[in-house]
Amino acid sequence: MILVVPLFLRIVAGKYINALALWPFILVRNVETKESEVTIHHEKIHIRQQLELFIIPFYVLYIGFYFYYRVKSKTRMQAYLSIPFEKEAYVSESDFDYLKIRKWWAWKRYIS
Ligand SMILES: [Zn+2]
Repeated sequence: MILVVPLFLRIVAGKYINALALWPFILVRNVETKESEVTIHHEKIHIRQQLELFIIPFYVLYIGFYFYYRVKSKTRMQAYLSIPFEKEAYVSESDFDYLKIRKWWAWKRYIS
């Protein structure tokens, strides 16, 4: 289910985040984002990752990966893009059949 919640996203994620997967919801900043197939597919990949990790451990790992890569990276953006969950989602966001063939824990391949 996709919810358009601009104020909530701004408070929780800051002004540069347009969409966020918070199982079972995909939260978006505006209608344009809601209509972006690639962005919504990216978030659906995160929903799958969250489900296979029973939700809470996903967020713990996500934040852990972020701080791990933040120590190793020069910038916040580099750290964010190094998170295996994000790497998998970015690589596969335009392949709309991806979730049909995706193997469990596919994000593990992107740990570096
Ligand atoms: Zn993402």
